[in-house]
Amino acid sequence: MTRAQEIASNLADVRARIHKAAKSAGRDPETITLVAVTKTFPESDIEILADLGITDVGESKEQEGSRKAAALSHLPLRWHFIGQLQRNKAARVAKWASVIQSVDRPELIGLLDSREVLLQINLDGQEGRGGVAPEAMLSLADAVVSSPLTLGGLMAVAPLGGDADAAFARLADLHRQLLAAHPAARTLSAGMSGDLEAAITHGATHVRIGSSILGSRPLLQ
Ligand SMILES: *Cc1c(COP(=O)(O)O)cnc(C)c1O
Repeated sequence: MTRAQEIASNLADVRARIHKAAKSAGRDPETITLVAVTKTFPESDIEILADLGITDVGESKEQEGSRKAAALSHLPLRWHFIGQLQRNKAARVAKWASVIQSVDRPELIGLLDSREVLLQINLDGQEGRGGVAPEAMLSLADAVVSSPLTLGGLMAVAPLGGDADAAFARLADLHRQLLAAHPAARTLSAGMSGDLEAAITHGATHVRIGSSILGSRPLLQ
């Protein structure tokens, strides 16, 4: 099998999973955006994905994303930044990423320029993995909407080894609170290769899928 055939086959499986999960949740599969997470994989894989109809790709490192976005600027892709956002790299990320999914503290806001941003929520109560504490979500949202940035919605990662269903139920509840204050913040980015079904059950509008499409990555990425 060529690499293109392998990716096409994996992608068809992922699209079928999304379709099935959406149907069982009584949702229209067309309303769910698949963000292909391409971190660590070569530009040639992203060209294959674009050929297969992928329009949204996710990267988690500033330098890697910036290099790939520049090399592939001829393709109709929206680049999502999904990694931990460091203060000293924020301005550079904003040059190539159309959506910054990992805003988790007010000090980043002034560094980002007019961009769509998602607030990353910390669902596991531990520091270090990124994300704003649920209690601080609404004040961070207020800070975003009083800046030139557009508040798109929320992003979260289920706790490592935890119960994804319970975590995404809690996230959906937070999203309802956010929508009550900011009705335009409709995006809910949740669900990865291992838990996309649970995320779709709880209203994810964007799923971020890497390994189920492209294969396993080296550890620590
Ligand atoms: C790497 C990554 C993903 C994709 O994870 P897979 O398990 O490979 O699908 C999704 N979201 C974030 C924030 C990531 O860092």
